[in-house]
Amino acid sequence: MRLVFLGPPGAGKGTQAREVAGKTGVPHVSTGDMFRAEVTAGTELGLRVKSIMDGGDLVSDDVVLEVVRSRLGKCDVEGGYLLDGFPRTLVQARGLDGIAAQQNRPLDHVVYFDLDDQMVISRLSGRRSCPACGEPYHIESLKPRTEGICDKCSTELIQRDDDRPDTVKNRLDVYKQQTAELIDYYRKKELLRRVGADGSVQQVRAGVFEALGVG
Ligand code: ADP
Ligand code: AMP
Repeated sequence: MRLVFLGPPGAGKGTQAREVAGKTGVPHVSTGDMFRAEVTAGTELGLRVKSIMDGGDLVSDDVVLEVVRSRLGKCDVEGGYLLDGFPRTLVQARGLDGIAAQQNRPLDHVVYFDLDDQMVISRLSGRRSCPACGEPYHIESLKPRTEGICDKCSTELIQRDDDRPDTVKNRLDVYKQQTAELIDYYRKKELLRRVGADGSVQQVRAGVFEALGVG
């Protein structure tokens, strides 16, 4: 299966992507996670993208496409992939079409996580993340077993710099200006599967599996 998870930041894409990847074995490819790993490793790319990410703006299309093209050329994604947080612009979506055509492996589904602004703001501002394994938590809805500590790897949780209030507002604006038009783009291609993202993790998971036709 070749999948795209589309929707506003904080809609729960990463949370569900981990579930789907765990159940189906399809590799989870998150451009945000890839860029954060570069920042943590202090690479040249990491240094270039850090301030853009901290401000909640988008990394340039050519940089993103280069990273994704290289990732989708690896052997582990020959049988499928789950793209989370990519594409985010029309240029990226067309670039992905080009990669898929070149590989002769078209997309199967684009799952659109539909969530209103208020919920997006509350999900993002309450998010806590594990800097080591990336597992997301929430201060109210998805607490770790021990406060401030990752259940999976026992690392101390952090609040991402781009989850602070000023940046959250900008990220939502950027989504509306640059990413939301992809909903129509994929609807016209008959790939769009809308899932209401305001239920519990279990309810949203059921919606995602139903949309994908996975039991
Ligand atoms: P995205 O990958 O779309 O940016 P995340 O998966 O990181 O979003 O989720 C954003 C925040 O919302 C996290 O704090 C996560 O724990 C929380 N969250 C995700 N799904 C749900 C849900 N169905 N109900 C409540 N909180 C959720
Ligand atoms: P995410 O983890 O998906 O919320 O992404 C975090 C940040 O990484 C974004 O706010 C952007 O700065 C950058 N980023 C991730 N994916 C992309 C993308 N497809 N296009 C541009 N910037 C991206």
